[in-house]
Amino acid sequence: MNTAFANPFDLTGKVAMVTGSRTGLGQAIAIALSQAGASIVGVDRGPADETRTAIEAQGGAFLPVTADLSTTAPLPAIVQSALDRFGALDILVNNAGIIRRADALDFTEEDWDAVVDVNLKSAFFLAQAAARTMLAARPNGKSAGGKIINIASMLSFQGGIRVASYTSAKSGLMGLTKLLACEWAAKGINVNAIAPGYMATNNTAPLRADAERNGQILARIPAGRWGAPADLGGAAVFLASEASAYVHGITIPVDGGWLAR
Ligand code: NAP
Repeated sequence: MNTAFANPFDLTGKVAMVTGSRTGLGQAIAIALSQAGASIVGVDRGPADETRTAIEAQGGAFLPVTADLSTTAPLPAIVQSALDRFGALDILVNNAGIIRRADALDFTEEDWDAVVDVNLKSAFFLAQAAARTMLAARPNGKSAGGKIINIASMLSFQGGIRVASYTSAKSGLMGLTKLLACEWAAKGINVNAIAPGYMATNNTAPLRADAERNGQILARIPAGRWGAPADLGGAAVFLASEASAYVHGITIPVDGGWLAR
């Protein structure tokens, strides 16, 4: 039986790199891709022990790669680490991200650069490094192709308040997703994005701790609850797999209905 045909979501034999896999959404995406069969390369500033333990406990492979994505310097070595261990890189999830909050009138250049460097600049140059590998000719003269998934935001679609650099970076990331799809779709790489809604992670802890903002946000979510990191697993596996072979340049909201409101 052709199992790839029987299960178009199967990632057995694939190698998936997830940035920011230590916690939150990146951890849940890494675990979901592993459950679908992929070997995982986790790119983190520090040890991703919890993620590694969870993946190895379900029989998966996890390669930790230590790197700080606030500069582009480590990017070539990150891709090389995946190739050295697994011999391929099939899937990249650009998940690592930070947020800084201040009124636009007071927003500092430091808070602008810090967010744009991690959330947009490193995401682009890591996609570039990954794509060069995915498009390199193999001995049969063909390239393997691949899948690139950028983690966008509701603030790719909306303005928000007090997050000037974050909204700019996430809006830019959605535009970049479309540009890369236009350049690489015919070459065999699917570039798409996932826009999480309001998810319960470290990133949103200050919002959830603010009773007024928490109440306003919950009242607007049709599903009536904050998202859990595991809610992203299905979209991530879909965009990483053959099931999305003809899907290019889109940003899938996984938002409990937020944008429908
Ligand atoms: P999180 O728990 O704060 O996780 C962010 C991850 O990015 C962490 O693993 C963090 O590593 C990593 N990271 C940050 N700066 C880095 C750097 N310089 N180098 C390497 N890794 C770095 O937040 P999250 O909510 O899971 O966020 C994951 C992604 O989803 C982000 O891109 C975020 O913007 C996006 N997002 C989140 C929400 C939400 O509601 N939570 C909604 C929309 C989009 P450390 O552990 O070392 O800090």
